[in-house]
Formats: sequence, C-alpha cells, structure tokens
Amino acid sequence: MTDSFPHLFSPLTIGPLTVKNRVFSTGHMTMMIDGGVPNDDFVAYHEARAAGGAGLIITEAARIHSSTVSSGQAINGANDNCITAYAKTADAVHAHGCAIFGQLSHGGRSAYGTNDGTRAVAYAPSSTPDERFHNQPRAMTTAMARELIEGYGNTAKRMAVAGLDGVEILASHGSLPAQFLNPRLNFRDDEFGGSFDGRLRFLRDLIDNARAKIGEGTVLGMRISGDEMSHDGLTPDLVVEVIAALDDDGVLDYVNVIAGTMSDLAGSVHVVPPMAIETGYVAPFAATVKACVSMPVFVAGRINQPQIAEQILSSDQADMCGMTRAMIADPKMASKAQAGRLDDIRACIGCNQACIGHMQTGYPISCIQHPETGRERTFGVRQPAPVARKVMVVGAGPAGMKAAAVAAERGHDVTLYETTARLGGQTLLAQQLPGRAEFGGIITNLTRELELAGVRVVTNTAVDRALIDKEAPQAVIVATGARPRHPYIEGADEAHVVDAWQVLTDAANVGASVVIADWRCDWVGLGLAEKLARNGCQVRLAVNGTTPGESIQQYVRTNWVGTLHKLGVEIIPYSRVYGVDTDTVYLQHTASGEAVLCEGVDTLVTALGHEPDTTLEKALQDFDSEVHVIGDCLAPRTVEEAVLEGLRAGTSV
Ligand code: SF4
Repeated sequence: MTDSFPHLFSPLTIGPLTVKNRVFSTGHMTMMIDGGVPNDDFVAYHEARAAGGAGLIITEAARIHSSTVSSGQAINGANDNCITAYAKTADAVHAHGCAIFGQLSHGGRSAYGTNDGTRAVAYAPSSTPDERFHNQPRAMTTAMARELIEGYGNTAKRMAVAGLDGVEILASHGSLPAQFLNPRLNFRDDEFGGSFDGRLRFLRDLIDNARAKIGEGTVLGMRISGDEMSHDGLTPDLVVEVIAALDDDGVLDYVNVIAGTMSDLAGSVHVVPPMAIETGYVAPFAATVKACVSMPVFVAGRINQPQIAEQILSSDQADMCGMTRAMIADPKMASKAQAGRLDDIRACIGCNQACIGHMQTGYPISCIQHPETGRERTFGVRQPAPVARKVMVVGAGPAGMKAAAVAAERGHDVTLYETTARLGGQTLLAQQLPGRAEFGGIITNLTRELELAGVRVVTNTAVDRALIDKEAPQAVIVATGARPRHPYIEGADEAHVVDAWQVLTDAANVGASVVIADWRCDWVGLGLAEKLARNGCQVRLAVNGTTPGESIQQYVRTNWVGTLHKLGVEIIPYSRVYGVDTDTVYLQHTASGEAVLCEGVDTLVTALGHEPDTTLEKALQDFDSEVHVIGDCLAPRTVEEAVLEGLRAGTSV
C-alpha cells in the first residue's frame, strides 16, 4: 500500500482468490495467437504486465464452440490444444505474484471472419441482423443452445485444468449471452425466451454449467455492458436487473462492467473508447451496480491514470479498475504508481492507433508511444552499448526524441538538437485539433524519457554539415521531419488557399464558406472540419478516399464522423482537388473521373500530405560515420512509425 494510492494497492478477495492490488488488464485481443493457440509473444506480452505490477490479467476472448471460431488469430477454447499455452502463460504471470483468468466468448449474430476468408454462418437466439458485420443469423435450435452451454462449461474446465485462477463469461458488447437477454433481439418461444426469466435462462444455465465443471476453487465472473449505447442494445435498467438476479443466485464471484456493443457502429466506439470520450466514464454505472450487489464489481473504460482509478475506488464506485491500455502504453504503470514515480508513467492517450488499430488490421497489438509492446521478445530488455559513443540526434519530433532516449539509456553520449524552441515536432500541431489535446501527452512522456536517460537537449539551433563536422560525432540520427505538401492546383495563385498547418496555428484568416481538400483521410481533415464548423464556418470536407478518416482506427473515425454530422459538415467522398477560383473549388470524382463543383466557396484549405525535409540527409551523403534517417524525413507517415524507427535507431546505433 502507498500513501498516494491506498485503495489501488490494497488486496481484494474475489471468491476463493485474493489478488494483491486493484489493477487489472481486461480481456483484449492481442493477435499473438497461431492456429487458435497462444504463442510465445503472447506469454511474453502478459508476463511484462505481470512483472510491471498488475494484480490480475484477464486473457482474451476464447471461442467456446466451432460455431464461433472466427479465425486462427483468436484462441480456440473448443478443444484441448489451448491448455499447454494457457499453462505456460499462467506460470509466467504467477511468477510475478499476479493472478490470471481466461475469458469465454461466443459472438452470436456478430460473427466475423473464418479460417478461409468466407463469410461465417452466424447463430443467434433469433434471426435478428446486426448493423456492423451485416450478418443475417440463423435462429439456433433449443438443442444447439444446450450444446453451447456445454461448450462454455467445457472451455472453462480447460482453463481451470491449465492452472488459470479464474474464468470470465463474456456477456458484454452484444455477445451471445447479451443477445439472449435482450427483448429486442430474442423472440424465442422455447425455455430460452418469452419472459425476463426465460431470456435470462441461457446465461443462468451456462453459469451453473461452468461452475459445476470448474468447482469452487476457481473464480467465476461475468463481464457485461451496462449500456450498449445502441439502437437495439441492452439498457442500464435491464442490465442492473440481470446482475441483481445473478447476485441473488450466488454462483458468480464478481461482475465486470463496461459499455458498448460490437453489433453496430455507435455502440462499437465504446468497445475501446477513443480520446474524445471522457476518462472513467463507466464508473457511475458501476456505482449503481455496486449499490445493489454483494459480489465485487470491476469496471473499465478510459481509466488511463492511477489517479482516476484511485478516485473510483475511494468513492466506492467499484472494487477493481481495468487499465488495459494504460499497461499497453506502460507495462510498468502499476509498479511506478506504487513507488510514487508518477512523472515516469507513460500515460495512454486513447489514440487507438496501434493497440486496437493493429488488432483490427490483423497485426499484433502495440502502442504508438511504446513500440516495445508486442515486441517484448525483441525489444523488451534494453541492451547496453558495447562501446559508449558520441551521438548527435537532429530533430526533436517523436522520432528523434525516442531515438535519443533509447541511445542514451544504452550508455551513449547523446545530444538532441531542435531548430525551434520547443520539442515535439508535428505533435505540437496535432494536439491543436479539436478533442486531440491529449495527443500532446506524447511530448510530455518522451520529454521525461529524455530526462531519465540523461540526454543533452539543445533548442533554437539549426544543424548543418559544418556543425556536425565541428562536433565530430561517431553517429548521426537524422529526424528532421516534413513540411506541408503544396502540389500544383490550377488557379491557386488567384484564390484564397491556405494549408492545414496555417489553420491549426490560427495563422490563416479563413472565410465563412470553406472546402477542405483532404488527401490522406486521417485525423487532420476530420479535425480541421470540426474546428472550422465550431468556428461558425459552412464546411465541406472533400476526401480522396471512400470515407473521411478512412486511414485511421474505426472507433476514432466513427465517433468523429458522428460529431461532424451533428455540426452540419457536408462530406464529399471520392474527391481529388484540381482547381480553384475566387468562389469555386473544382474536384474530380476519383471513380468516375467526372468534375464535381463546389460553388460559393471563400477559402480552400489543403490537407494534402507532407514532403520530407531531406536537406541534412543530402548534406551527409559523404559523411564517413554512421548515419540513420528516421521518421517523416525518411517518408512522411505517422507518430507510430516515427517512434518505432526511433526505437530501432536508438537500439542499433
Ligand atoms: Fe493508448 Fe494509443 Fe498506445 Fe493504444 S496506441 S495504448 S490508445 S497510447
């Protein structure tokens, strides 16, 4: 227990188990699964969080039956192949005094993917389609419902046999048990429908079945969304009634509450809530549940800092706090908090880019700020440099800052140079976008890494070849970034045309009617549209893609598109800008090739990407020591690639 966090670092008894503190990692897909079986990266990933002080790790959704096995990248709990890998993970996690649970899952109507790329046959209580995966499910027979109840129990038993301390039934996010509970989805006339008790029967029976198979010595809990935030989702009143009834049954050891559903777009935002959603926002619902049940109540949902978790616990809103992304961004978050090293915690900023964003594109999860995540077996331990060398890092954006910190941690004598007065590069601009102020946390976190590593920082200094020759370093890391790209647009000299950077820094006087030409379909176009619409402009967002935000994580995009819709922003997809005059912007439809005219325009705002600054790289062509070129000056991309390349350069220099 620490003075700062007396509640967070106090033990909690959950059924037959006592965990050492109140920090847990919620079940989340890692994509560290081969052929349905967790691999060694999975073990290393979870062990790092256990070593970093977590009290409990709940591993990801294991499919309990062949009717819901979505791909080889999800754990197949429907056969015994998973047992050895679970046991190996349990041993690794237990070695650090951390408990570990498994999670039981069936997606019901929200089936997605198969092992061969065909569409899945979705099975649900009734044939009610979903709006996200566009499945028209088959209503399962009574016999199949009973078979699935057995499947939940059998998978639970495999987890107990493997030595996991507990098992969590996934009834959250619109998964199968939630579909049975929902009168808007369940129209059955057998024993699993028709009334509150009928709709609850599937969940009750599978809880009883799982308990019978794992016995009293293994924890049994349930995760459920209090509000699915969906047009046909579960509502808080009904969910409280369900939890209270199950608490009365006395079979569950805990309940874990969250929000959202995977079954429609608005609800899916809350599966992994992005930066625009308030921190700790599910806690009031947890408090409602806690007031009417006797079992411990877990909560998650943007609890990204120990201070927020402590507040939730001390105000008796919940008993355990899920801090998953907090530990993806910083595996040592818990131990640093316990030691009072709050400034050293690399706080998650809710960008969703490399964690859930990677998962949804089929790659192992990571973190834009901490690319060591998901790469624990490669970068988990910093190797000291064989010989300490003098290293110059030029450019203090995220790439240069990370490279400098890592190189200095390894023992090199590192100086980081920045032309301007401030560290952060384009992150300083990105944090100016509406709802993206937290993005600036990257600078705070990297600045602290520089301090801890002992990097010498020199600002207001442009570095050229003469300075490098004078300093005579043994290695140079070039991280000089990029500038806005201004391609030729016919008529631009005569019209009012400004670029994204000018708008973000309030250096442009934008007219009342604006067209934004958005080439990359990322945060910039969305953010500019929101900023200008909130300033009272009439905004048309013309995107060179199928939808705004096409290149960013889907929950971030969905939430932002909803905001723009409320603000009255007009979206023009499939658009390439080619001309402008004093009141018209000329677009070309990228599919048909036809012209699309936007009339009555005062200002064209261009967000047409960036060009790398290669000046220093070219000046070093004949430099006879080691040179690394990283980040946007190598090729303009995002913070994620910049920080990863910083890590690689700092590791290899
Ligand atoms: Fe948090 Fe972004 Fe890292 Fe995900 S990628 S853990 S949201 S900082």
